[in-house]
Amino acid sequence: MKKAIWIGLAGMLAAGAAFAAKPNILFVMSDDHTSQAVGVYGSRLAKLNPTPTIDKIASEGVVMENAFCHNAICTPSRACIMTGQYSAINGCPTLNDPLPPERQYLSKEMKKAGYQTAVIGKWHLKALPSTFDYYKVLQGQGDYFDPFFYETGSEGVVKRQMTWGNRAWKTFKGAVEMKGHSTDCIADSALEWFKEKRDPNKPFFLKLHFKAPHDYFEYAPRYESYLDDVNIPEPANMWDLKNYGSIATRGHNDELLPFVGTSVGRRNLRRNYAKDPRTPWADQVDHSLSDDGIKRQTYQLYMKAYLRCVKGVDDNLKRVIDYLKAEGLYDNTVIMYTGDQGFYLGEHDYIDKRWGYEEAMRMPFIVRYPKANTAGTRIDAIVENVDYAPTMLDFAGVPTPDYMQGHSFKPIIETGKEPADWKKAAYYHYQMHMAHHDNPAHIAIRTKRYKLIYFYGTGMKERTPDTPPAWELYDLKNDPSEDNNLYDNPEYAGVIAELKEELKVLRKEYKVDGPEFAYNAAIEKFWDYDDADRAEAVELSNQVVQRHKDGTWPHNVKRKKKQ
Ligand code: CA
Repeated sequence: MKKAIWIGLAGMLAAGAAFAAKPNILFVMSDDHTSQAVGVYGSRLAKLNPTPTIDKIASEGVVMENAFCHNAICTPSRACIMTGQYSAINGCPTLNDPLPPERQYLSKEMKKAGYQTAVIGKWHLKALPSTFDYYKVLQGQGDYFDPFFYETGSEGVVKRQMTWGNRAWKTFKGAVEMKGHSTDCIADSALEWFKEKRDPNKPFFLKLHFKAPHDYFEYAPRYESYLDDVNIPEPANMWDLKNYGSIATRGHNDELLPFVGTSVGRRNLRRNYAKDPRTPWADQVDHSLSDDGIKRQTYQLYMKAYLRCVKGVDDNLKRVIDYLKAEGLYDNTVIMYTGDQGFYLGEHDYIDKRWGYEEAMRMPFIVRYPKANTAGTRIDAIVENVDYAPTMLDFAGVPTPDYMQGHSFKPIIETGKEPADWKKAAYYHYQMHMAHHDNPAHIAIRTKRYKLIYFYGTGMKERTPDTPPAWELYDLKNDPSEDNNLYDNPEYAGVIAELKEELKVLRKEYKVDGPEFAYNAAIEKFWDYDDADRAEAVELSNQVVQRHKDGTWPHNVKRKKKQ
């Protein structure tokens, strides 16, 4: 009997030792937290010191300077991270697509590797994250104040009145309510999980997802005076578009500026932050001002609300970090911080995300793992959100599964060096053509030096464009803010031909170039962009204006009526 107990104990100790060799993994993701609002990325906002906690983690770890999302919008980016696959393959190319348990690969693989798994906060993939040992997640976007969460094992019933649509009352089963601001509630829930549910005999994998700073930027009341007396610096290209964009984004002779891409000021007639009644600053805009005056004022109101939400995230992250330190877990935990994509803070007079331009496509990505000995390193290797799952699994000792399309960059984090055979480009694809924020669908390829973007002008199920197709090329070394589209500059014909070829090769490799995707017909047709294609683009630009005039524009019609 005694012998059996000893053998059992020895077995448990051996298992414990094997697990102890594996680091804990804390993956922290905020919603729409863009690199311009992370101090360590050194933007015009860095001097406001928006993120001292995140910057401290970065100073003890590595900063990925070229981390990109494949599809800059919430649900698709989250699905890329959970599956290690590109949007056309993982079944979640739009905001409306669920990620069912059978495709929640990352949590399943982590569990197989012996990890205790948990996800807390904003999930936004519709199907419940039932493959995690523990979940406590907001329903859809969730509420900023007094949020409720679906929680593992809960039998609670929550009744809520919807804030939009017909304002019906709905019942949510398996849910729990909390009081206070969502960022505080999510950090509280993580601390409660650590204290009451964490199994000290297993390494943990926790996905901690803040809802903030997603729109509409409702911050906790304690931040009301934060930045109150500060004039937030404006991006120069909020006022002067220079040679930015193309007929796809500006229209023929700029005729589509009122219709493409939602704006800070009144440029976009349908939707902008100067008139949106859902913003917290709606009653503070002085509509007697000039267009420029309103834009200037709205920008300040917008930035302050956004940065107050960011401050709440940073302060709450510190509470979690302090707990890890107090419990002796800090140095055996890989800590990753990211946003699910970037976000526009007025650059090019845009709001929201979705664009394949730098502000939206770039993700902040910071990794702290002291055993890597690369503290304070900045790395310019190109990594994509499909690479995050393979990297986390690599830290857990799991080889990248065959079905994942991404690659582990753990060796790059550990050495600060990029292997010769590492990927040379990121692949981008935004598919929700003209939905919500009036962005035409596009694909793009981004190397360290250049970005080539291709607006192909159709929705997911159409073969012919209804907005003007166009290509754009930016030289990011000389033009990091993408103010000068070089596509028609003959000096770059060779660069364009090479990038187009590379884009073709990537699309084939990722299995996204086939006829099963209707939009590929349009992608093929306008690929060479000859004179006939250009003439058709002008015609389509004129048609967009005409369809707005005569009320036959097919996109965003319902929302327009409501506003
Ligand atoms: Ca997001």
